[in-house]
Amino acid sequence: MLPDVVKVPRVTVVDRVSLPAKATAVVVVDMQNDFAHPNGKLYSPASREIIPRIATLLDKARSRGVRVIYTKDTHYPDDPVEFPIWGPHVVKGTWGWEIVDELKPREGDIVVEKMRYDAFFGTPLDHILRMYGVRHLVVTGTVANICVLHTVASARLRLYDVVVPVDAVAALNEFDYAAALRQMDFLYRVTLTKTEGVEFVNI
Ligand code: ZN
Repeated sequence: MLPDVVKVPRVTVVDRVSLPAKATAVVVVDMQNDFAHPNGKLYSPASREIIPRIATLLDKARSRGVRVIYTKDTHYPDDPVEFPIWGPHVVKGTWGWEIVDELKPREGDIVVEKMRYDAFFGTPLDHILRMYGVRHLVVTGTVANICVLHTVASARLRLYDVVVPVDAVAALNEFDYAAALRQMDFLYRVTLTKTEGVEFVNI
């Protein structure tokens, strides 16, 4: 039997991470109205709280020429896999499917539509990253234990170096947040830091 209370194992959060600008991409996972806007179908306040941190990171990334990639969770009407679990959300072409106004993609950014939790599954993301010589990913967005974790895991299985700023990913509750960070830290050997600790350098 599972105990009612479990101790959260410690995760390592480093102060600073230096990444080569040309070989790095910032990935913004599913920051869409249905998840991060109060009128969205699966809104959670935590997903809104991380917007300023992601915006700061994107400013820093763009000023150093770091590639920016958005994922958009994308479903067609009557999705038989996810709608029975979550109800209808991010239906392609609807307002809820759009990225939140505060983080709108800019010219030159790449937007990848994904149908499952993992942004690599059935998408050209791996090919895009290889084409541009990207080896390092800074992954942000929502939600931490589902689409962020699956995408991070998939990236690590493909041997990308992954950094996750812990204040730029959101979960629905503390348990999910802690469980996601534990898996990233212990199992996938992701480098955890805070948004202000991410540095992009030209080498
Ligand atoms: Zn979905």
